[in-house]
Amino acid sequence: MRSRFTSPFSLPVRDIVRKPGEMREHSFSVTLDEQWGEGIVSFEKGSTLDLDIRLESVHEGILVSGAADAEYTGVCGRCLTDIARPVEVEFQELFAYPGEEETDFEVQDDHVDLETLVRDATVLALPFQPVCQPDCPGLDPLTGEKLTENAGSEQVAPIDPRWSALQNITDQDGTAESRAAEKEES
Ligand SMILES: [Zn+2]
Repeated sequence: MRSRFTSPFSLPVRDIVRKPGEMREHSFSVTLDEQWGEGIVSFEKGSTLDLDIRLESVHEGILVSGAADAEYTGVCGRCLTDIARPVEVEFQELFAYPGEEETDFEVQDDHVDLETLVRDATVLALPFQPVCQPDCPGLDPLTGEKLTENAGSEQVAPIDPRWSALQNITDQDGTAESRAAEKEES
């Protein structure tokens, strides 16, 4: 088990413990020593989180508010192109003083460890179905090649003969209708 003193997410609170109204702010960066997230996008090992943290002493404990700026990487869920996107995640949690009730977040002696809080918030912010662009057309089911946005190339492709017959019918209908409309007008 890792010593709590080595956690880069630990912040000292000794000077504000049990002093409601006191407040401290910390801005710092953490380099991840392991990958965060298990999906097709994640925060890579070695990537950096920029943290802005506010610690407020309240009666029940230390109220932690903050924001994390990070960049996730992975692949587009449709076309498998590599993607990297910045995200900003906000979070807030009360770290209670140790008492009779067990809580998930507690003030530990003279510090608070934000790792679980920050990790849960940032991993939750990862998109479930990441895309390289909102209208990514994905991959061609036949060739496996990435489809281009140029819809014109699809129309050049030969129409299935069964459908081309239908298309002729609809074309004729359209002509007939417009002729009928002309007659009514005259
Ligand atoms: Zn894509």
